[in-house]
Amino acid sequence: MGAFFAPNALLYVIWALAFFGFLPYNDFSANANMFGTVIELSIFSFALSYQMHRLKVEKQRIEVELQESKALNGKDPMTGLWNRLYFDNEFHRFLKERQVQREPFAFMIADIDDFKQVNDLDGHPRGDEVIVAIAQLLERLFKRDCDRVFRLGGEEFGIILCSKNADEAIASAQRCVAAVEALAMVHPRAPKGVITISAGLALCETIHLDAFEIYTLADRQLYDAKTSGKNRLNYVIV
Ligand code: GH3
Ligand code: MG
Ligand code: MG
Repeated sequence: MGAFFAPNALLYVIWALAFFGFLPYNDFSANANMFGTVIELSIFSFALSYQMHRLKVEKQRIEVELQESKALNGKDPMTGLWNRLYFDNEFHRFLKERQVQREPFAFMIADIDDFKQVNDLDGHPRGDEVIVAIAQLLERLFKRDCDRVFRLGGEEFGIILCSKNADEAIASAQRCVAAVEALAMVHPRAPKGVITISAGLALCETIHLDAFEIYTLADRQLYDAKTSGKNRLNYVIV
């Protein structure tokens, strides 16, 4: 900006020198101060309009970002499922609601079997495709108003099942495990040659557990499903 002001300053000096008789007094030197003011005002108005334009562009950018973050609020960008943050914030609330209504609470954790091999042998983009395909299947299977499907992280999903009793919840969870196998997505090393999931289901019918206890129960069942051969559902009713 300093470079812009140098000619104006020079014009003021010319005017002052002419005024005090050190330079010839002619039309130019007599009005040099006015030329300086005009140039200065032009530079200022140019800088102002440039600055206003910059602020407008910045405002538009912030508005777009705000809209995007609102749209993604609570959602996992890759799969469109509810994200881990939403799960951490809301899980206990869903549980409380069911407990207040004296309804059973069913929570399932599902994890893709031997998924690391899919990444390692078929590539990360193929791994992403598998995660998205399973997420879409889960959304199709658990689409009632009171069902909730979360991506808990990586290749792990959490589902709050909207079931009136244990039998119904177990049947839906088993259908889900079978449905993933039926998608017949190729797995490079699995025994059946297709992608499968293992799942752990915790059903609370009588005992009031807190969110952490239910999560831990489902996770324990998932662990047992993994260690007893994978591609299966293990469940516990409390
Ligand atoms: P297990 O049957 O015991 O569950 O074995 P696994 O190979 O499925 O489990 P492991 O925890 O060893 O590997 C999970 C892999 O998932 C490791 C990690 O790099 C990958 N992963 C996590 N998030 C993503 C993702 O968003 N995209 C892809 N492609 N891979 C992911
Ligand atoms: Mg896994
Ligand atoms: Mg996992």
